[in-house]
This record gives sequence, C-alpha cells and structure tokens, in this order.
Amino acid sequence: MPFVKASPEAQLRLLELADRDTELGRLDHRRRTLPENAELDQLNERAARVRDAMTIADTNLSDLDRDLSRAEKDVDQVTVRIDKDNQRLNAGQVSNARELESLQSEVTSLRKRQGDLEEVVLELMERREAAQALRDGAGAEAETVGGDVAAVTARRDAALAEIDEQAAKATAARAAVLPDVPADLLALYDRILRASAGGRAAAELRRGQCGGCREMLSTVELNEVRGAAADEVVRHEECGRILVRTAESGM
Ligand SMILES: [Zn+2]
Repeated sequence: MPFVKASPEAQLRLLELADRDTELGRLDHRRRTLPENAELDQLNERAARVRDAMTIADTNLSDLDRDLSRAEKDVDQVTVRIDKDNQRLNAGQVSNARELESLQSEVTSLRKRQGDLEEVVLELMERREAAQALRDGAGAEAETVGGDVAAVTARRDAALAEIDEQAAKATAARAAVLPDVPADLLALYDRILRASAGGRAAAELRRGQCGGCREMLSTVELNEVRGAAADEVVRHEECGRILVRTAESGM
C-alpha cells in the first residue's frame, strides 16, 4: 500500500494543506453558484422583455399620431368646405333652384362625412390613450427592473468581495504550509486531487473513520494501518485518499 514516505509532522502539514484546498474549493463553488447570478439572469431577461414592450408601444404611438393628424386634417378640410358652402347659401349668391338644391345636398353629405371623420378621430384618440397607458406601464416597469438590477448587482459584488477576501486568506495560509510538504508527498496529493475533481485528497483517520468519505475502516484495513510505520503514507483503499494518522486516530 505505501509507496511514499513522509514524517508524521509532514503528513499533518499535508492535512492542513488539504483543509485550505477544501476551503478554496468551497469558496470557488460559492462564487460560481451565487443566487444573485441566477437572479440577475432572470432580471436581465425581464429587462429585455420590457425593452421590447417599450419599442412596440413607441411604434404604436407614432403610428397612431400619424393616423390622428391625418384624420384631423380631413376633418378640417371638410369643415372648411362646409363653411364655404354655408357662406354661399347665406349670402344669397345662389338663386338657381337646381344649383341651390345641389349645394344643400352637398352640405348634407359633407356634414355626414364630418361626423364620420370625427368619430374616427375619437376612436384614434381612445386607442392612443390606451397605447400611452401601455407605454407608461412599460416605462415604469423598466425603472423598477433597473432598480432591482442595481440592488442585486450591489449584493452580488459584496458577496464576491467577501469571498475574494476569504480566498486570499486561504491562499496565503496554503502558501505558508506548502514548504513543509515534501515534493513526492505533494505530487501524490496533487494526483489524487486532480482525479477527485477538486474534492478532498487527504483526510484524517479519526476513530477508525476516514475523514474524507466518512466510511469506517474494516478491521483488516485498520490492522494494516496499525502495522504501517509512522513515516509510511497510507491511503484509504475505498476512496483513494491519503489517510493521515493523528492523536485522534485511535491507533
Ligand atoms: Zn475514505
């Protein structure tokens, strides 16, 4: 089982190194899984939807404004013609009966057209009001979402700053332990660490239990560990981790 030798002191230092690496792994995981990031993803999706709604509402409004000014111009033109016809009628300029009749019938049909056009204007104004309400609602929601994005971003940045601070401490502590771990022990440790995809590569043997996988060692395994010299680096066969014997190991 053992193919690397290291003093019990060096093995204890390796345990400290594993503690720091575990902490760094935990911090890295926290950094990657901050709930604020998921919140921001959702908020940004909402912001994009609101922006789309605002664009649609703006287009709608400008279309309605164009239609409205066209309809108002039509009303004006008809009104001007009615006024002109009425002036001619009132001034008594038309004496011919047929001409008088035709002028009166023109006024009648112009009045009907004026009424229809005024109805169109009213309907367009109502639609414009509704479109403006939609635009106002979207604008207000955009402001709310913007405020939420700012608040969540600030919260995420504060969490990241705290994680960075803890990581800097753990990194410094790791660097302080590193010179006390012999090169071949470190190489073995690194190999196990890489294979375990960032998990804990060295663990304490504590009252017959592996501190890495939490399995109890069998009697056979415990006897093997007991039989190993203090400077032999032993590993838990179940999980492959380096098992470090301490005063708590019960050996
Ligand atoms: Zn284990």
